[in-house]
Amino acid sequence: MILEYQAFINGSFRDSNKKQDIINPASGEVIARVAVANQMDAEEAINAAREAFDQGPWRRISLAERKNCLLKISQGILDKAAELAKLETLNTGKSIKESTFMDIPSSAKTFEHFANNLEKYLSGQEITIGSEAESKLVYEPRGVVVLIVPWNYPLLIASWKMSQALAAGNTVILKPSSLTPLTALELAKIVKEAGLPEGVVNVLNGSGQELGELLCSDQRVDMISFTGSNEVGRQIIGYASKNVKKLLMELGGKSASIVFKEVDLEVAVNSALTSIFLNQGQMCTAMSRILIEDDIYDKFVADFVAKAKKIKLGDGLNYESQMGPLISEGQRKKVLSLVEKAKKEGAKLLCGGKIPADPALNKGFFFEPAVFSDVKPQMSIFQEEIFGPVACVSKFSDVEEAVSLANATEFGLACSIWTKNSSLAQDIAAKVNAGTVWVNTYGMFYNEVPYGGFKQSGFGKELGREGLLEYARLKNIISDRSQEGKPLVSHWYGF
Ligand code: NAD
Repeated sequence: MILEYQAFINGSFRDSNKKQDIINPASGEVIARVAVANQMDAEEAINAAREAFDQGPWRRISLAERKNCLLKISQGILDKAAELAKLETLNTGKSIKESTFMDIPSSAKTFEHFANNLEKYLSGQEITIGSEAESKLVYEPRGVVVLIVPWNYPLLIASWKMSQALAAGNTVILKPSSLTPLTALELAKIVKEAGLPEGVVNVLNGSGQELGELLCSDQRVDMISFTGSNEVGRQIIGYASKNVKKLLMELGGKSASIVFKEVDLEVAVNSALTSIFLNQGQMCTAMSRILIEDDIYDKFVADFVAKAKKIKLGDGLNYESQMGPLISEGQRKKVLSLVEKAKKEGAKLLCGGKIPADPALNKGFFFEPAVFSDVKPQMSIFQEEIFGPVACVSKFSDVEEAVSLANATEFGLACSIWTKNSSLAQDIAAKVNAGTVWVNTYGMFYNEVPYGGFKQSGFGKELGREGLLEYARLKNIISDRSQEGKPLVSHWYGF
């Protein structure tokens, strides 16, 4: 059965003359037909979100009521968890284990976390300035926030952004990737069932090139929260420069795992495999560069390659599959061309890096996980984000070299350090240019603590109190405390 979806604007679902087929990347089959929003729909969504913010009840209701709405959304996600997990797998190709145990429950948990903590996170401060003045710092919502989301974690990233934006009292327009809009449009249904006022949440499926400029350059939009590629991030910064608005940019990465000799080798190998091959390597925090201390290099690489060769490719809906297809034919072509370039530049391909010969896989966009050794910092494969299942392995001989290699890219998203020597780990953590550092672990995101990149990986944080406060503006209310009603300011001109 082919599912049908419409845009969600001002509390109602709207059809469109233009429809887009949504493809299952494991089979190439059409799974849904989705209304494509045009510029008029984007206009209406901005109007609806603006009016709901300026005139609607959302920003005026009590924090307890706001909390209640977010808890209903969280519960709504849990009530449909199995259906959403299946849909996410059908649309992205990721393993059903990942969508069932990670993407969907984590989405619900994020709404729950910000519901339960919004009052604490948004609490202001009072500061007394000697006997002169008293300052009240108050967090307010920013207004209309446009949320632009990529295709690798469609519901999860939409939920991070939407839960924080709503918890802070904003109204939103969510634009999912046009490759993966299905769970975002299911989220719209959940929001409607949760009874949020009309216009507080709007969800538009459509091409970024067509809708992006309109949504991002409009002065009625107060903030853009974007997760995606550097190329599009730069375009959005350009659109936003037409007026002044808050930006949150979560961009690309080329993160490094640093593996020292004092490790449990099996744990380090298994974790390194997960950190690059989970979700077909289509993760911003993929540890696509694995730096290994020379004493354990040969053994590590041999074990890593042996296990990479055994990864079972297949339809994500099959619980036996360990790796699904890439998101699209276009993405597979991009990954293939970077693999070819790496070979020409002298990197040594140890396994994979090609379209599988298995006829059972020939309808989907499958790709054999690749491992390159002898990768040097000047090679493009060391520098460019591939966003696919391609691991680059390099050797280091001392701490200085490890840090220098880890920092030798323009990105600064994350780093993973593997060693039993905890003071060494903390020393390295202080020296690497990465917004998130995992020590003896990888990919653990917690709603309680912020996440975000440095350098070309973007700016601003998601999650934690710091993440929520990105979606709030800080007002400073200063009151005079001088004695006898004679504020200092009145003396300046001697009046
Ligand atoms: P993308 O930049 O192509 O698209 C992201 C979103 O932007 C999509 O919704 C797309 O429709 C929209 N878009 C495209 N052109 C636009 C425009 N001109 N104006 C406004 N919006 C536009 O990224 P993608 O291919 O969907 O995702 C992969 C990229 O996302 C990778 O670079 C990856 O590193 C990055 N990413 C970063 C993080 C992070 O937290 N730092 C997380 C996930 C993905």
